[in-house]
Parts: sequence; structure tokens; C-alpha cells
Amino acid sequence: MGRSSKDKRDIYYRLAKEEGWRARSAFKLLQLDEEFSLFTGVNRAVDLCAAPGSWSQVLSRKLRGHGEKCEGGEEVKIVAVDLQAMAPLPGVTQIQGDITKVSTAEEIVRHFEGQPADLVVCDGAPDVTGLHDVDEYIQAQLLLAALNITTHVLKPGGTFVAKIFRGKDVTLLYSQLKIFFGGVTCAKPRSSRNSSIEAFVVCQNYHPPEGYVPNMSNPLLDHSYDVDFNQLEGPNRIIVPFLACGDLSAFDSDRTYPLQLDAGKEYQYTPPTQPPISPPYQQACHLRKNNLLSKEDSPSSLGPRQSGDQAQ
Ligand code: SAM
Repeated sequence: MGRSSKDKRDIYYRLAKEEGWRARSAFKLLQLDEEFSLFTGVNRAVDLCAAPGSWSQVLSRKLRGHGEKCEGGEEVKIVAVDLQAMAPLPGVTQIQGDITKVSTAEEIVRHFEGQPADLVVCDGAPDVTGLHDVDEYIQAQLLLAALNITTHVLKPGGTFVAKIFRGKDVTLLYSQLKIFFGGVTCAKPRSSRNSSIEAFVVCQNYHPPEGYVPNMSNPLLDHSYDVDFNQLEGPNRIIVPFLACGDLSAFDSDRTYPLQLDAGKEYQYTPPTQPPISPPYQQACHLRKNNLLSKEDSPSSLGPRQSGDQAQ
């Protein structure tokens, strides 16, 4: 695909580069904030599954403004966690680690010097396989891992935002989130493609059940997974409100836009803000560029599919 064709097809991809975001995902967090005022009063924030870093950029710009401190004068601390290395960002401490590990939770708490976080966000996604059931299952695992780590670090009353796939077992996830949060809303920012089952749960007012001890166990792994959760009834079946968010005048991410938005203004290609520093597909690209891939191997040897959100 040529440079301009991706620019043409995806308006948020193009805007991300123009505005200096590392990935188009930045608009999702910005549009969620427009609806839920996520950043009000936040001094300590955690970005789980943060690479290449556009959500961390949003946190850094919104919480720190132009300095180290928030409006109230308190020091702002932002921790970003990812399996992959990420290029540095002002005011963001990076942990290269796995969100399913308790050691990662401990490292976050250490960075906050024992103080709990006000906000935890997670845009985590596994490499998509294309097998929908498998993808939904792995995404659910990641969300539960994020929830577990959140129970170690979030303050009572705090907010947790995470990517969710609205698959067939999504009500189980809602039920589990409702155990820990006063309000759970499923939100779909305008920059998230309608054609994608992706949405975001915005979980407000953290209040774990009395006597709850944070742990890293996973209900989807610990119990047999043979129940049809959509059959749950009565108080066991949780339906959370669904909210489409982002201003109605915001761009529709499923549309194809002309390169020229402003009549008469010459279109100029913008290079990526921050190319990935060590992407897992680097070797495959090198082999392909140098014609070193054998024909039989070519589709599978390119490795798992990457999210299309990264502005590269
Ligand atoms: N929010 C990011 C941004 O705005 O730039 C994009 C996140 S990207 C869609 C998903 C990330 O999840 C990948 O960088 C991947 O490495 C990370 N990830 C997946 N599983 C993880 C795990 N178990 N622990 C930490 N990070 C993980």
C-alpha cells in the first residue's frame, strides 16, 4: 500500500501524524476524556500496554501541561508498562514488563512510593490472529490481567479504562467489573472504527468488595469455560450502558476522506511521529526488502498481524 493511500483511507492516521501523536489511538483516549472528564484531579496515572506510546503522550500532555506539576501544584507521576520497549516521553516512567505479573504491579507501586494511582488505562491488545473466538478470548484475558493489576494499584474512587471486545461473552466481563466499580459504561469513541468490535469500558468509583485481597488469579482460567454467559439471568446478567462518544462533528473513522480537506491547500505527506524502536516484525521486513523470503514461507513468515493503529 502506498504512503498516500493509507493517508487517504484513514483520516485519524493522517491527523495523528499531523498533530504529533505516535498512533491514531490517541484520539480514542481524547474522545473518551471529552465524555467522561477522565483527567480531572489526576496526579498519578498508569498506562498499561502503552507502546508505542500515544496514550502516554495524551496523559503527559493533559496531566503535566508544560511542567512537572498539575494545576494544583502537586507532582504528576505517569507510569507506562509494555512488553515492548518504547521511545522515551517527557514525565513518563517506563516499565518494560508483563501486565500479567505481580512483580509489575509491585514495580508500579514502588514508583508511586506506596501511593495509589488515580487513573489506570489499558489499551492492551494481543496480536490479532483473525480467528475471532481466539482473539476475543485472549483480549478478555488481557482485560482481566489489567483488572487484576489495577486492584493492586488503584485508589478507592479511582477510574479504570480498558479496551474490550464486545464478543459473545462480554456480559461476564461486565459482571466482573461491576464487582469492583460503582459505574461501568461501555463507550465507543468516534475514532474507533464501527466495523471493529473494539470498545472501551469506563469503570468509575473503584470500591473492591469488603476484605478483597488483590491477586493475579483469573476467573476465566481458574474455572471451566463451558458456560454460555449470555444465558445468565436476573442479577447475574449485567447489561451496562452503551455510549457512543466523541463530538458528532468528529471524523467518522470508517469513511474514506479525500487527501485535500481544505480546498486549495496543498496536501503534504507527514512522516511518523515516532517509528517503533524495535518492532517484532523488523526481521520479516528486512527479509522481504532483500528478497530473502521464500515464496512458500512468505504469508506465515511475516509473523502475527499488527494493530493497524500505529502511525508508522
Ligand atoms: N495505547 C497504545 C498507544 O496509544 O500507543 C497502543 C497499544 S497497542 C494497541 C497494544 C500493546 O499491548 C502492544 O504494544 C503490546 O506489546 C501490549 N501488550 C500485549 N500484551 C501485553 C502484556 N501481557 N503485558 C504488557 N503489554 C502487553
